[in-house]
Amino acid sequence: MKAARFYTAKDLRVDVVPDEAPKGDEVRIQVKWCGICGSDLHEFLDGPIFTPGDTPQYVTGCTNPVTMGHEFSGVVVAVGPDVKNFKVGDRVIPEPLVVDYDCPSCQKNEYNVCEHLSFLGFVSNNGGLAEYCNFTEKFVHHMPDEMSFEDGAIVEPLAVGYHSLKVGHFEAGQTAVVAGAGPIGLATIASLKALGAKQIIAVQRKSVRQQYALNTGADIVLDPNVDDVVAKVKELTGGAGADVAFETTSSEQCFHLLRDCIKPHGYEVITSIWTSNITMNPNVLVLTEKNIVGSICYSGNDFEEVIALLSSGKLKVPGYVTKKVLLDKVLEDGFGTLTGPDKKAQVKILVTPDESLL
Ligand SMILES: [Zn+2]
Repeated sequence: MKAARFYTAKDLRVDVVPDEAPKGDEVRIQVKWCGICGSDLHEFLDGPIFTPGDTPQYVTGCTNPVTMGHEFSGVVVAVGPDVKNFKVGDRVIPEPLVVDYDCPSCQKNEYNVCEHLSFLGFVSNNGGLAEYCNFTEKFVHHMPDEMSFEDGAIVEPLAVGYHSLKVGHFEAGQTAVVAGAGPIGLATIASLKALGAKQIIAVQRKSVRQQYALNTGADIVLDPNVDDVVAKVKELTGGAGADVAFETTSSEQCFHLLRDCIKPHGYEVITSIWTSNITMNPNVLVLTEKNIVGSICYSGNDFEEVIALLSSGKLKVPGYVTKKVLLDKVLEDGFGTLTGPDKKAQVKILVTPDESLL
């Protein structure tokens, strides 16, 4: 079968690899659609970051090259001898966590903060940018009949945004600020809309992404290069400040802006991944009792809840998928487009190994 495998920075190849039967509690999934994620792009440009390189990975024992892709949907075509909840023909969405099942967090079912957290699509010869993928049934979810495979492939990024609302103690009727209208920012805006936000204020520099934010449910978009964001949020909230804010850009400017936008005791949730340090005087928290908290992946019932919200139509992400490409052309048409001059116009590129789906 074909699989897109990451060797090292800027070296991604569509290789022909052996077919492997599912073992133990693994299901074998025929991939329909797989999204390309920001973390895939980081890996492609600057890896190995999430992939093991030459050092065997803690859980899988694998080294590079590894098969990429972790945002996908598909159909079960075979099951291992110990599988209990799936059969051939089931439509499925994997929750792509690879964990040790052993650390104190895993023992409390808090897999997203596992000491050895890693992801399907970075650490083994299984991933979604391939024709088939074997994965433990523990982290596979059933997909409703009425849900399209395209929607199934965006459940993973939606769940990242959805989970961050829980971390930020969001409640219906609150006002939220979201910095960034890329895939995770839009997932956050869509989740806020679905769960009854009173007012959603997006912060996004001038680009087509401002329109994506409005289409997804933002009430207003502020441009940090043009608007006094903090003053404007105060004005929009009757002087109180926002209840909660979400940082999805990894920009120091937005980090500080959001903290100043929220009310005392409010929450700033950091969903972005950072490659550099920032400077902050802790007094800005001491004197306001504001909370700055991190959010990683998804846990508990997040996947099931997102699947139900998407399936019912309550959760909508208009314009989320901006391009569809064939697996054979994933390097040029997928990674090339997302790292080229047109990248800001893209939200999510979906990849399929099946030409008949295009
Ligand atoms: Zn663990």
